[in-house]
Amino acid sequence: MHLVLLGPPGVGKGTQGLRLAQHFRSPHISTGNMLRDAVAKGTPLGQKVRSIMDLGGLVPDDVMIGVVGDRLAESDVRAGFVLDGFPRTVPQAEALDGILSKNGLGVDRAVVIDAPIEVIVSRLSGRRVCTVCARTYHVQNDPPRSPGQCDDGHGELIQREDDREDVTRDRISLYARLTAPLVDFYRKKGLMLKVAGEGPQDEVFDHIVRSLAGAGVV
Ligand code: AMP
Repeated sequence: MHLVLLGPPGVGKGTQGLRLAQHFRSPHISTGNMLRDAVAKGTPLGQKVRSIMDLGGLVPDDVMIGVVGDRLAESDVRAGFVLDGFPRTVPQAEALDGILSKNGLGVDRAVVIDAPIEVIVSRLSGRRVCTVCARTYHVQNDPPRSPGQCDDGHGELIQREDDREDVTRDRISLYARLTAPLVDFYRKKGLMLKVAGEGPQDEVFDHIVRSLAGAGVV
């Protein structure tokens, strides 16, 4: 199944994306993780996007379309994917349709995870991420066994630059202005499934899987 995950920053797309990808045995394609990886490695892409990301801005559409186009040219995506963080603008969504249709594919469903703004701000400000494996934690809701250390023994947990409260607010308003219109984009195509994201992770996950089954997609 070719699944797109939409939702404001901090709503749990990364966590749900990973679980859905494991569940459906599909690659989890997170553009945020791909870009952070490029920044960590200091590649030309990483150098280009670093300051945009730190300030909570959006990387230009042409750059993102190139990055995702290259990733979707790999053969592991034929049977399915969970796309997390892309598309984020209407031109990106149109480009995605174009890339997929060249290979006789299309988006099967766009799952929109939503939550009230206070929940999102609290999730982002308490979020910590492993510097090595990118697993995320929350200082209150999902703390690591030993403070500041990844449970998987990988590395140190840090707060992302763009999870600082001032940057968070900017990211939320960018989402409302540029990404939220995608909900309508997919609704008009009859592909949109909306789920509430404020409950426990397991509940949200079950809800998504049940909604997809109910829609007859899986
Ligand atoms: P995320 O981990 O999905 O919150 O992404 C982190 C940051 O990467 C975003 O705040 C943007 O700066 C950048 N980014 C990731 N995906 C995209 C995209 N599809 N379009 C533009 N910028 C993106």
